[in-house]
Amino acid sequence: MAEPFIHAENLAFTYKGSGGADDIPALNGITLDIQKGEFVAILGHNGSGKSTFAKLLNLILEPTGGTLSVAGFDLSKGDLSEDDLIALRRRVGMVFQNPDNQLVATIVEDDVAFGPENLGVPMPELRERVDEALAAVGMSEFSQREPHHLSGGQKQRVAIAGILAMKPECVVFDEATAMLDPVGRKEVLDTIRRLNREDGMTVIHITHYMNEAALADRIVVLNDGAILMQGTPDEVFSRRNELRAVGLEVPQCAELIHRLREAGIPVSGQSVSSLEGCAEQILKCFAKEGRDNG
Ligand code: ADP
Ligand code: MG
Repeated sequence: MAEPFIHAENLAFTYKGSGGADDIPALNGITLDIQKGEFVAILGHNGSGKSTFAKLLNLILEPTGGTLSVAGFDLSKGDLSEDDLIALRRRVGMVFQNPDNQLVATIVEDDVAFGPENLGVPMPELRERVDEALAAVGMSEFSQREPHHLSGGQKQRVAIAGILAMKPECVVFDEATAMLDPVGRKEVLDTIRRLNREDGMTVIHITHYMNEAALADRIVVLNDGAILMQGTPDEVFSRRNELRAVGLEVPQCAELIHRLREAGIPVSGQSVSSLEGCAEQILKCFAKEGRDNG
């Protein structure tokens, strides 16, 4: 099997307390592989270590324990050259919560060009990359607009285009939909899914929206700096009580299945993370009931 794109073993990170303050251990004993092309969602309540994990992946923070390799670079030795760091950040892009903090230029296409231009991408390739990236997020017709006149979802899509123009293999979205309205969230999530499905981009999506996590290939749940559980959305959302215990709700359809079972209705399938799966199980259950009674 090919080497995983991300390989973490006993990964740890502690924020050093300054001025006599205590150290804050943010992550401890994280062992996790993420394969190229995977769509992984990361869940966990505030302070569970999600953003710290994201920042380790392109060396915004440096591991304080364990090992971490990303895109073939060993990030835990502390000896990455400046050139390798640039190569790493080109291959692993980050999109953060607030689109306003990520836009730097006064015209949309200049903003998208900013990253690749800094990497030294020459014309006419720069032009091509900007056009492609704007098309990929459905923002071509806004190329001459001023970013501050756009909606939140549109701004976030421009921020994503700026990352795409660097042709990354992996993009980490750290609550990139958290500040958006429902329409903006859908725009951004559709974009993320298409990049994963059609272009094979590895996606790490940190979110507290359960219905967004339900779309991932795999969910990793963090709690108190450690991995509490991981599995497919169906596997993870079946463990409703354990999630509840750490302050996480399951998607509404999974909650419905759970409550039906609690009420003694024998809904038996494993598929709890999609509306279609839940509906099918409930219908099967009633069909069986009908047969049993008739
Ligand atoms: P999440 O993204 O899941 O909310 P974080 O990774 O931001 O969690 O935080 C994990 C832990 O590290 C928390 O206890 C948080 O208070 C602490 N922390 C985060 N950033 C810093 C920082 N810059 N300095 C000190 N402690 C921090
Ligand atoms: Mg965070």
